[in-house]
Amino acid sequence: MKIKSAKFLTSAPDLQSCPEPGLPEIAFIGRSNVGKSSLINMLANRANLAKVSATPGATRLLNFFTMNESWYLVDLPGYGYSKVKQANREQFHQAVSDYLSQRVSLRCICLLIDSRLPPQKIDLEFCDWLVSGEIPFVLVFTKADKLKASKLKSNVATFLQQLEEMIPNEPPHFITSSKDRSGQRELLGFVEEVVNG
Ligand code: GDP
Repeated sequence: MKIKSAKFLTSAPDLQSCPEPGLPEIAFIGRSNVGKSSLINMLANRANLAKVSATPGATRLLNFFTMNESWYLVDLPGYGYSKVKQANREQFHQAVSDYLSQRVSLRCICLLIDSRLPPQKIDLEFCDWLVSGEIPFVLVFTKADKLKASKLKSNVATFLQQLEEMIPNEPPHFITSSKDRSGQRELLGFVEEVVNG
């Protein structure tokens, strides 16, 4: 799939404020600073569609983008950043969990994982939560350019291995870099299948 058009549609603070369900949706989520905004910009071939922020945890709303006038890309707030105030965190958490568990037009979640790090408990727990809610997801490893090929391979394998101990089926995974644009074709190919399927 080539992205020919990408337009910001709206930001919603909660599920009730989201646009009427219509077009199929693919949502992107991950720990703050995982490289989500960079990945979205890379997929869309845009410098500044999603805001790459210097302040981790700054994106707090459900941001809808209309892609190729045929699907919505939904940029969800980053999780796991401690400087976000507790009260705010709960509100965001509620909005995201309502959206993920109740949004009828949501087809799949791209869960971003920082390929540089050892498996993070918060990411593994989030996978477990998605599986228990029967919410379809794929793993998107980010920042692959930052590692040697051997280290990248072992980090991905370790994450998948730990996940396998928690959940029955291994989700599909993609390895990406927003810097050298690797993984773009594969991930967009998957998105195409999902939105057309
Ligand atoms: P977000 O908070 O998840 O939206 O993360 P951002 O997209 O704002 O990225 C966080 C930081 O990681 C920024 O300094 C980016 O330039 C950097 N970054 C993101 N993706 C990559 C990548 O693929 N490779 C490299 N080398 N740096 C990246």
